[in-house]
Amino acid sequence: MTLKQAYEYGQEQLKNAEIDDAALDAWYLLEYVTGVSRAMYFLDMNREISLEQETKYCSYVATRAKHVPLQHITGVQEFMGLEFLVNEHVLVPRQDTEVLVECVLEDLKSGIHILDMCTGSGCILLSLLKLCRMSNVNGVGVDISEEALKVAKQNAEKLEVNARFISSDLFCDVEGKYDVIVSNPPYIRTSVIEELKEEVKFHDPFIALDGKEDGLYFYRRIVEDSPKYLKKGGKLYFEIGHDQGEDVSKLMKDAGFVDVTVKKDLAGLDRVVFGMYSVIRANS
Ligand code: GLN
Repeated sequence: MTLKQAYEYGQEQLKNAEIDDAALDAWYLLEYVTGVSRAMYFLDMNREISLEQETKYCSYVATRAKHVPLQHITGVQEFMGLEFLVNEHVLVPRQDTEVLVECVLEDLKSGIHILDMCTGSGCILLSLLKLCRMSNVNGVGVDISEEALKVAKQNAEKLEVNARFISSDLFCDVEGKYDVIVSNPPYIRTSVIEELKEEVKFHDPFIALDGKEDGLYFYRRIVEDSPKYLKKGGKLYFEIGHDQGEDVSKLMKDAGFVDVTVKKDLAGLDRVVFGMYSVIRANS
């Protein structure tokens, strides 16, 4: 098989299997297996690939045709320009979440402690620590899943970021006070998970998606408990679903958060809510 034949075969198979972005995924798999860049491909598309590469490519295409996410085959996903290891135990980092990271980055100062609740792959915490360029910023990632924490720790090592990870059911085993709590908790209503595409509903961990009956379960719990773990004037940042801006803002205001703000993602949908915990107001 030549590079061109392989690429065409991959596109055909993935189109037949009704994979979104079939051509793109066929390309990424070819690049992953052969190491050929896009420019090299166009210069030399009639080059034969080795039998080993051909076998590998065809088997990856077959796996992708079964709607296994591309990232579970290649084992990585880019986020904030950094490469994160992923597997079936963590939510594949989404581009939408970059808006959350950008919001927090804008506010970071030196000497700050960050807590990332439901850290998953660690993508939020680790990109904050890697990209903040401030001295003395440190962070803790929390997750209930030991398997997810293994991935987060590997990512910390790979990105050479110093972070601590705690296994805890929300705040159960968390101690100390933080300047910033950030979270992209599971927020999809249980009844809606069934309607998601196969790549998500069968391959992202259910516990990373399920926000229970009304999708707000984790926001309620985190809003309720976070004041105990925030320093005076500390801030809570959430990623939210596009229709949760009002509900989550209300939860935060009712719990004593002030300056509660909703931010949109690049598609113009509500995606982030944040606010500052005001001790005076909460106690009054
Ligand atoms: N914090 C991780 C992410 O944003 C995991 C989120 C989750 O599991 N809900 O990708």
